[in-house]
Amino acid sequence: MSKKIRRAQVISSKQISPHLMRVVVGSDEFADFPIDQQGAYVKVLFPHEGKTEVELNLKADNPAPMRSYTIRNIDPHSGAITLDFVINQHRGIATNWAKQAKIGDNLGIAGPGPRKLSDFSQSEYLLIGDLTSVNAINGYLQKLPASASVNAIIHVPDEGDIIELDTVPSHYQVNWLVSEQPQVDLINAVITQLTASNSRSTGNKPVIFMALESSLIREINTIARSQFAIARENIACSAYWKQGITADGLKVEKQHQSNA
Ligand SMILES: Cc1cc2nc3c(=O)[nH]c(=O)nc-3n(C[C@H](O)[C@H](O)[C@H](O)COP(=O)(O)OP(=O)(O)OC[C@H]3O[C@@H](n4cnc5c(N)ncnc54)[C@H](O)[C@@H]3O)c2cc1C
Repeated sequence: MSKKIRRAQVISSKQISPHLMRVVVGSDEFADFPIDQQGAYVKVLFPHEGKTEVELNLKADNPAPMRSYTIRNIDPHSGAITLDFVINQHRGIATNWAKQAKIGDNLGIAGPGPRKLSDFSQSEYLLIGDLTSVNAINGYLQKLPASASVNAIIHVPDEGDIIELDTVPSHYQVNWLVSEQPQVDLINAVITQLTASNSRSTGNKPVIFMALESSLIREINTIARSQFAIARENIACSAYWKQGITADGLKVEKQHQSNA
């Protein structure tokens, strides 16, 4: 993650679906924001409750609350970035802020950070996400080779949450899964897709990117590796959120796991 922290203001905010608020943020500090980072993530720093200014010093006694969000778009002239926040699914610092975001509101942006998937040279990919990672998938769809076989499965809670993605090669398959039970329906959709991929018997196994709720990541990881013999190094995955735990708690858990 780039250490640079930019002061930002809300330039526009608009609810684009039942569960997504699109917020464009920027300032004159974004003139040098790297323009090839669509689908990469940034850390958003929010004002403390009841305050309008943001603490940008990460080492301050009372640092700003921070959450990770994915870049949907970058204005090539101003460097302003577009972020989509999940709303109406839970309560938390970020989602509460996004629901009320208005032009001129202050925040900080740290990053961008590295993408999880960096190998864009394979012949087959399976991308699995939900509303928190739809923009990561959108970014990868722009980067993958046009010659590759690409399938994406994106879980959304409501048909109205099927948002427009940027243009991709016509043979890429983007499957939106509308379901209130992703624990069942998403798992089944992934098994169906991996089975179809196996039966094509090209000898290739897909490289998988997935970013989802933590328990789904664990389950799909196990299935992909044990039932479909996908090698660990061909699965790029990240728990973007965890049921019942804040992003701060999830970060601590991830740190413990990587130290174990
Ligand atoms: C690299 C990366 C990129 C991400 N990009 C995006 C993005 O572009 N858009 C986006 O919306 N999110 C994105 N996320 C996920 C987002 O950072 C988390 O959902 C975060 O927890 C939201 O913070 P909060 O303050 O709203 O809720 P928190 O205070 O972190 O959590 C409060 C409660 O809400 C629950 N919760 C958190 N997120 C959700 C959710 N999505 N649905 C249902 N319940 C939830 C938690 O389990 C907890 O019980 C990304 C995460 C990562 C790691």
